[in-house]
Amino acid sequence: MHPNCLFCKIINGDIPASKLYEDDEVTAFWDIAPQAPRHFLVIPKKHITGPAALGSEDEQLIGKVMRTGARLAAENGIGDGFRMVFNNGAEAGQTVFHLHMHVLGGRAMNWPPG
Ligand code: AMP
Ligand code: ZN
Repeated sequence: MHPNCLFCKIINGDIPASKLYEDDEVTAFWDIAPQAPRHFLVIPKKHITGPAALGSEDEQLIGKVMRTGARLAAENGIGDGFRMVFNNGAEAGQTVFHLHMHVLGGRAMNWPPG
């Protein structure tokens, strides 16, 4: 629990979110500003600032984040086509500095991303 972290507050229940899934290690909730018909975030409960801050001890955890995202994509009707995105650093568009994986689907995706 990081006192000034928005996503730690969501994990802790201090700020409401529309949760799809939660267990002792990860939480998933719908993005408040969806960029596709389906757009949710999967986060570890452990406060890690972003992908660049992952340690070797986090390798199993980040694998679980990805597998959970794929499972929830299938359960929410976008199993045939979805995009997973991690933004690392403000330059890349990261605005919340608690590691999160975006899962987007329900429309055709463009490449390269903006
Ligand atoms: P990023 O720009 O990669 O750091 O992504 C942060 C994401 O968190 C954005 O897509 C925001 O729309 C989303 N977000 C911010 N606040 C909330 C919130 N209270 N509940 C759900 N999603 C949020
Ligand atoms: Zn946090």
